[in-house]
Amino acid sequence: LFRLLPQLSALDTYRSRLAHRSASVEIVQNFLRRDNKPFMVNGSLPYSRLEKEIRFNNVSFSYPKLSETEKDSFDESKPILTEINLSIPQGSTLAVVGTSGAGKSTLADLLCRLYDPDRGTITLDGEDLRNFDLSALRSAIAVVSQDVFLFNKTIRYNLTYASNYTTETEIWEGVKQAYAEEFITQLPEQLDTRIGDRGIRLSGGQRQRLAIARALLQKPDILILDEATSALDSLSEQQVQQAFNRLSCTRFIIAHRLSTIQNADQIAVLKEGKIVECGTHSQLILKQGYYSHFYQEQTDTNQ
Ligand code: ATP
Repeated sequence: LFRLLPQLSALDTYRSRLAHRSASVEIVQNFLRRDNKPFMVNGSLPYSRLEKEIRFNNVSFSYPKLSETEKDSFDESKPILTEINLSIPQGSTLAVVGTSGAGKSTLADLLCRLYDPDRGTITLDGEDLRNFDLSALRSAIAVVSQDVFLFNKTIRYNLTYASNYTTETEIWEGVKQAYAEEFITQLPEQLDTRIGDRGIRLSGGQRQRLAIARALLQKPDILILDEATSALDSLSEQQVQQAFNRLSCTRFIIAHRLSTIQNADQIAVLKEGKIVECGTHSQLILKQGYYSHFYQEQTDTNQ
C-alpha cells in the first residue's frame, strides 16, 4: 500500500486541479455545444486589403441562446444592437464610446465575425463580410482587448505567431514601442522565456503590453483596440497610441478614457445598442449632448 502512496497523492492533486478547472470546462463545453446556435458559414473570397471603407448597414443583433443553463443569465430576446449605420473610410479611426453594456464590444465582435448580424450587413469595400474566407479575414485583423489571450509558450511565439516574417530587430522594436522591453529583459531567457501554466506568470499589465507588441508586429489591415491601454499610465498610453497611429491601417477603438480618442476621425456614441451621436470631438462638444456630458464628467473627475 505504501508503494501506492505517491501515485494516490498525485491522483488527488489531479482531482483537485480538475475540480478547480471544471468551471472553465463548462464554459468551453457551452461554447462548443451546437444546440440552436446559428452555423457560421465560411465564405470563399480571399481577403487581401481594404481599399475604400468598412460599412455597417442597418445592423441589428441579439445574442443567440446557447443552452438551457444560460437561459437564466441572459435575456435571449433583448436586442443588443439596433439599426447601426457607420462608414469607416480606409485608414481612418472610428472611436466608439458609451456606458457599460451599451454594446461596444459586441460591435467589434461582429466586425471580426465572431457573430453575424440578425439583420443588415457589414461590408468591406461593398462585399459582405460573410463572403470572405474567415481565416484570411481574421488574420488581417488585430485585436487588443482587456482579456488578453496568450499561449503557454515562449514570449517570442506569442509575439510573432500572427506575423508573417519578423526579424529579431523588428521584434525588439515592437517590444520597445509597447513598453514591454523593461520586463522582458529582466526575464531569465528574455524572448525565449516560457509563460503560462508551466512557465512564468505575467501581470495583467505585462500581458497587455505583449498584446500591444503583437498587434504592432502583425501590421494588421484593421486594428481593433478594446480598452487596449487601460493598464498603462497616461504617458506610456500616449506613446503606444503614437505607435499605433504610425500603422497604416483602419482603426476601430473602444475607449472609456475620452482623452485618448480626441483625435479620432469620428466618434460614435452608443446608448443601449443605438448610435445616438456621431462626429468629431469638437463637433460633439459643440452639440452639448451625451458626449459633451461624458467629457465634462471625466474632466471634472480628473481635476
Ligand atoms: P463594457 O463597456 O462594460 O465592456 P460594452 O458596451 O462593451 O460594455 P457589450 O460587452 O457589447 O457591452 O455587451 C452588451 C450587452 O450584451 C450587455 O447587456 C451584455 O450583458 C450582453 N452580452 C455580452 N456578451 C454576451 C453573450 N456572450 N451572450 C449574451 N449576452 C451577452
